[in-house]
Amino acid sequence: MASTTAAPHAPGAGDTAARTGAAVRQLADPGDARAVWQALGAHGLLRDLGAAELPGLLRVLDTYCPAGVVLSICVQVASALPILGEQAGAGPADEPVRAAYREATAGRAVLALAATDRDGAGSDLMQLGTTVRLDDSSLVIEGGKRWITNACTAAYALVLARHRPQQHFTSFLWVLVPLDAPGVRVSATHGTPLPGAGLGDLYLDDVRLDRSHLVGRPGRGMVTFARHIAMERYAGGVWAAAMCRRVLTDTHRRLAERPLGTGRAWDNPAIRERFARCVVEAWRIEAACDAHRAGSEPLVTSMLLKVAVAQGLDTVLGECAALLGAEAFAEGGLAQLRAAAGMFATAGGATEAMLAGIADHVPGLLEDRPW
Ligand SMILES: Cc1cc2nc3c(=O)[nH]c(=O)nc-3n(C[C@H](O)[C@H](O)[C@H](O)COP(=O)(O)OP(=O)(O)OC[C@H]3O[C@@H](n4cnc5c(N)ncnc54)[C@H](O)[C@@H]3O)c2cc1C
Repeated sequence: MASTTAAPHAPGAGDTAARTGAAVRQLADPGDARAVWQALGAHGLLRDLGAAELPGLLRVLDTYCPAGVVLSICVQVASALPILGEQAGAGPADEPVRAAYREATAGRAVLALAATDRDGAGSDLMQLGTTVRLDDSSLVIEGGKRWITNACTAAYALVLARHRPQQHFTSFLWVLVPLDAPGVRVSATHGTPLPGAGLGDLYLDDVRLDRSHLVGRPGRGMVTFARHIAMERYAGGVWAAAMCRRVLTDTHRRLAERPLGTGRAWDNPAIRERFARCVVEAWRIEAACDAHRAGSEPLVTSMLLKVAVAQGLDTVLGECAALLGAEAFAEGGLAQLRAAAGMFATAGGATEAMLAGIADHVPGLLEDRPW
């Protein structure tokens, strides 16, 4: 892949990569998501993270940590932490929000972002059924969230809920819910291919909190979600780009060593062509990340990026697994990674929902570089 592509080599990526390496190499167990978060915080890596720093951070995490742990960090740094930080830095933010941000950036508190609701499809958040009743000094939250990364490890969840029944984007808000508050119950999701992600469901049964736990103004919840989900999809894209490079490098080395006929597997023209097609897919993912970074319509380009990433990554991992033969099925092998990476087609937006959103922007998308 061209060394000029921005995804893994963006400004800021080098320094962030070196510092992330220093933070995670010393860990006894890089499969412990809480310990990884703590180490990143202790090395000052959870402050001022933007699009320039995410590629370096995620590339190093992808090298050292299992996919579930990288997912756990990815969701926090790309969406939960920035949403909290925006309010904590906004001036009038209330103390619980500032304290949670302080604890999270220091690595002492893990965050979760809870949007997907038990009462509606994740692809249709306007239907979500988790409600908040507000008065002058307090709030009561009632409902449930499912498939939440870090549900089992987080100290706080940022919960998207509705404070008005109307089907309108101004009917939503964010609440900072301490997961040890009375009325909160967490149920772990077992048996997923993503150990380390702390996946689980949240039950919110008449949870009463001080009004200072509101994050941002009532009515701004869905707008804030839309703005930050674009960054989460970009983070997923640069992580996928890193995963492709790592897997392609490793597969190429193995093919060059593996005997086939009178030579090596890499000498076989059919194998070289299949591998080259994977390189093209990886290049497409990096190009899509670059285009998203350079664009001015993040919500639209994040949908294009998400579909390109889900499809390209599955092609690369599937083809590399096939090229490795039985080795792919060893413990921790490519067959397992491919199953875990299948979540790129669902988490943060299902491919078909993205395609429906992209279709909504035709014919504008077909104009001369409208993004
Ligand atoms: C590993 C993992 C981690 C996750 N982490 C989080 C998290 O931290 N926080 C959080 O809030 N959520 C999280 N989620 C939930 C995720 O965001 C949702 O699963 C996702 O939005 C899809 O929602 P759903 O599962 O309800 O599926 P649905 O919305 O019910 O969709 C199911 C299928 O229906 C089809 N479909 C849906 N909409 C359309 C459409 N418009 N047009 C055509 N077909 C369509 C698609 O094939 C889709 O795959 C996570 C999910 C996974 C798998």
